[in-house]
Amino acid sequence: MNRALVIYSGGLDSTTCLFWALDEFDEVQTVTFDYNQRHKVEIEYSKMTLKLAQKIKKKKIENRFFSLDLSQIGGSALTDLSIDVPKNRNDKEMEKEIPITYVPFRNGIFLSIAAAMAEKNDISNIIGGWNMLDYSGYPDCRDNFLHTFELAVNYGTKRGSEGKPFKILTPLIKLKKSEIIILGKKHQADYSYSYSCYSGEKEPCGECDACLLRQKGFKEAGIKDDFLVRIGKA
Ligand SMILES: [Zn+2]
Repeated sequence: MNRALVIYSGGLDSTTCLFWALDEFDEVQTVTFDYNQRHKVEIEYSKMTLKLAQKIKKKKIENRFFSLDLSQIGGSALTDLSIDVPKNRNDKEMEKEIPITYVPFRNGIFLSIAAAMAEKNDISNIIGGWNMLDYSGYPDCRDNFLHTFELAVNYGTKRGSEGKPFKILTPLIKLKKSEIIILGKKHQADYSYSYSCYSGEKEPCGECDACLLRQKGFKEAGIKDDFLVRIGKA
């Protein structure tokens, strides 16, 4: 059976990956991380999107939640509440440097755990919503890192060393935000509960990098944001 594990936060990118994977694979599992993030509310929203996705695609999704407290490391506005989330930055400011919302090696940590889960559950495909355009510049979202990490996983696991390699699939890696939304819609993605904001408020702040990139994406795609439509703010 063709099976995949999606690293799933419930944001725009991973929701797109989820709907894409449900069309591409016979069986889809997800893992959602509770890393004591500022925007923990994303976990509650992610559960609602999982319910919606199962209904829309008429397919069961086995979902797991994994807790690890990255606030013990801190060093990011997302894992240290004393650091403010930057607001209203323009494109130039976003391009200039890796922002304070970068969580030290978060994707490397998540991928390691996902690889261990995939190995245990006999899954060879690991999927994530990393992308290099219209993103916040995090180095552990770049394709050179992800290719190298795939190699490392295949060297470092029993499954990989026995000739059953893992693949890290990055369907969004070269897409702009608007193209991600269009791809999602092609796969019936419903973003009504997909939450991207860093603020952790129940409703998106509209000012953090994640909100701004999302707004720009929907605008360029010429589509209304399902979440804002649902709350009557589109
Ligand atoms: Zn926001």
